[in-house]
Amino acid sequence: MSRFDIAIRNGIIVDGQRNPRYRGDVGVKEGVITHMGRIAPGEADREIDATGLVVAPGFIDLHTHYDAQVFWDPYLTTSGWNGVTSVVVGNCGFGFAPCKPELRDRAMESMTKVEAIPLATLEATLPWDWETYPEMLDSIDRQPKAVNLLPYIGVNPLLIWVMGLEDAKAGRKPSDEEHAEMARLLGEAMDAGACGWSAQTLGTAGDPSQPTLGGAAQSDFDGTPMPSDVMWPETHEVLAKVLGERGDGFIELSAAGLPREHWEKIAELSGAPVIYQAMPASGVMLEMHADMMQWFDACREKGLRIYGQGITQNPPLVFTFDYWDLWGAVWDEFTGPNLDKATRLANMQDPAIREKLRAEPLKVMFIAGINEVKIVETFSPEYEKFVGQSIQEIADALGRDPVDTVLDIVVADDQRTIFSASQFDINMEGLKQLIDYPYVIPGLSDGGAHLKYLAAGSYATEYISQYVRDHPLTNLEEAHWRLSALPAFCAGFQNRGVLREGAAADIIVYDYEKLDYEFPTFRHDLPGDEYRIASAGTGYRYVLVNGQITIEDDKQTETYSGKLLRHGA
Ligand SMILES: [Zn+2]
Repeated sequence: MSRFDIAIRNGIIVDGQRNPRYRGDVGVKEGVITHMGRIAPGEADREIDATGLVVAPGFIDLHTHYDAQVFWDPYLTTSGWNGVTSVVVGNCGFGFAPCKPELRDRAMESMTKVEAIPLATLEATLPWDWETYPEMLDSIDRQPKAVNLLPYIGVNPLLIWVMGLEDAKAGRKPSDEEHAEMARLLGEAMDAGACGWSAQTLGTAGDPSQPTLGGAAQSDFDGTPMPSDVMWPETHEVLAKVLGERGDGFIELSAAGLPREHWEKIAELSGAPVIYQAMPASGVMLEMHADMMQWFDACREKGLRIYGQGITQNPPLVFTFDYWDLWGAVWDEFTGPNLDKATRLANMQDPAIREKLRAEPLKVMFIAGINEVKIVETFSPEYEKFVGQSIQEIADALGRDPVDTVLDIVVADDQRTIFSASQFDINMEGLKQLIDYPYVIPGLSDGGAHLKYLAAGSYATEYISQYVRDHPLTNLEEAHWRLSALPAFCAGFQNRGVLREGAAADIIVYDYEKLDYEFPTFRHDLPGDEYRIASAGTGYRYVLVNGQITIEDDKQTETYSGKLLRHGA
């Protein structure tokens, strides 16, 4: 019997612990790194020549929504194609358990807008062989996986299970008995292996009639707030206490409207890391973020662990008018995905409706204007020469209003035009601010969600290739610590996120000069005859998950060595 199953020889080792890089070998036996240093030839069943390649810990993505995708895509792509070896699912308070059988359809419908996952795909793939949270974990455990998975329990299914859908949606305050039952269910989920709880609380407690901070993009399928948006801060406290009493788990919270005292109370009661959502690396948010960082520092001095979840990537949003819901209310009403194609087409040609659309402030994701949107592909000869140009440039060339310009092109293309827009207005100054600050976790991919316009699972590939190599804002040692060890620590991963003897063998071996990611492209590969965009990484010579090679030369090996990491282990 060989001393090692695999020996990765002669690579540049960046161990994720911020130690300076060195040239050496890594030996793997039965899923674990058993030796680092020098390994003589002939000691391993398989030898990988890593000469000239970087050997580093696999990336850990704390913010994903692969709760449904795990049932049809073992690689959890886009993430699995980009060096990610572990993800956390069940973010933002959303998930599919616990769920009573009569509410399954409603649970799937709820995910069609707030996370923009097509209903047909959910219907075609979710096995629904569970009612309780522990039963769902068993079902995920049975699925073949090429990526490790750590699960939160979302607050929405908890609220709905305990209070009923109507009362949860209405924002009724839970009784003491109901709070006790939620605490009991959270404890049961943690016993089964959940890593903590998550919530999106973007509205006013108890009042679903008030608009939420998330707006239309973060709403239930019918535009109303999600139950967690209108939940009571007291419920956060009850759930935080459960973690505090157990002494484990962590919390993901999206609740920018709640006062900082509330966040600190949650951190104090739970004793756990609290991940604040979200901080885009945006030029217009520099001051706001500087202020937040002062607050994080103050929390740290009190011993409270509140971390920012950064949005440190800038892949374009790529979309067509077949599915686009991020313009704002008026555009959504006349051109949104809830309308059938013929109605949208008629609306876009109606002069009265065009007038309304011209009057609406045209923003993509709150910041980029429609004039900045670019054409990626058009299908009509008259507009072909404008590919790569912005709507403003085209409008100027044609002497038309930008809104008329975009609508004319979409109508001429029968709604197939492919556009791209930048997310927020992420720029180098904003990136530098987040990358320099150690209490911000890089991300956020939202992998598995917003499938028809977002493919940000490439964020770690982008971080290394763009912000270490091409526009150096940081170095490799720091980058690998931030992309693996820091999130592993926050999420309670046991023995992952670093390369050291005794750690799980989640390892990436990549060509630093060739590391890159694809411009997001449409793929018609979703079950239920649906489509999405995705972005493959390049330069990944090997990805190992639990000591087995899952990716070789950027290709899936169809080796499903990923695990459901109950209790982080
Ligand atoms: Zn999310």
